Amino acid sequence: MNEITSAYLQKTGFSHLDPKAVLIDMDGVLYNSMPYHAEAWYKAVSSQGIACTLEEFFLYEGRTGASTIDLIFNRAYGRDATEEEKKQIYTRKCEFFERKGAAAVMPGSFDFLQQVKSLGLLPVLVTGSGQRTLLSKLSHDFPGIFTPQTMVTSFDVKYGKPHPEPYLIGLQKASVQPWQAIVVENAPLGVQAGVAAHIFTVAVNTGPLPNHMLIEAGADYLLPDMLSLSAHFEELYTLLTH
Ligand code: CA
Repeated sequence: MNEITSAYLQKTGFSHLDPKAVLIDMDGVLYNSMPYHAEAWYKAVSSQGIACTLEEFFLYEGRTGASTIDLIFNRAYGRDATEEEKKQIYTRKCEFFERKGAAAVMPGSFDFLQQVKSLGLLPVLVTGSGQRTLLSKLSHDFPGIFTPQTMVTSFDVKYGKPHPEPYLIGLQKASVQPWQAIVVENAPLGVQAGVAAHIFTVAVNTGPLPNHMLIEAGADYLLPDMLSLSAHFEELYTLLTH
C-alpha cells in the first residue's frame, strides 16, 4: 500500500479507503471568491470602528458569519456581539461582497468536477456560505453537478467549520461513511473540519497563507491549486484505491 493511504488508515483506525463521494468546498475551491470575501469583511468590520486587517479574514475562512463577528467582538470588546450587531455587520458584509460582482470560476475546477463524475464519484458541495449570489450561480457555472440533495450550506449547519458538522452532514447527504469520501478544501479551518470528520482531506492552497498552515491543520495531501488537482486527480484516485 502507498504511504499516503497507510498514513490515513493509521491515523483514523479504518481498515480501508474506498471513495464513493467527493465533498467539495466552494469559496477558494470552485470560485476565486476569497479575496472578495476578505475585502468585504474588512470594510464591514472597520466601518464599525473596529480595528482589523484584511489578511486575518483568510484565517477565519470557513467559519459562519456569526462566529467570525463574535471572534472580532471578543477581541475588541471582550464580549459576543448581540443578534442585532451580527445582523447589521453581516448584512453590510454581504452588500460589499455583492458589489464586487460575480467571482470568477477557479481555473481547473470545472474539469475537476467532470473527472469526479466520470470516475463515478458523487460530488457534494459543503460550504459555510449563505451568499445567495454564489449559490445560485453554481447551477449555471457547473451544470448538472450539484442538486439541493447534494449541497450543504450555511442554511443546513449550526456550528460551521472547523467543527466537523458540515462534513458529517455531507456524508449523510451522500449516504457514505468517512472512509468512502474525499474532502477538497483550501483553508486551514476547512481542512480541520474534514479531518475531524475522519475523511481523507486534500488541501489546495489557492490563497495567500503558507503551505505549513494546511499541513498543520491535518491535510492528508497538498496541492498548489485546482489546476494541479484537475491534472492529478485521476492519478490520486488510482493511488488511493489500489
Ligand atoms: Ca474555502
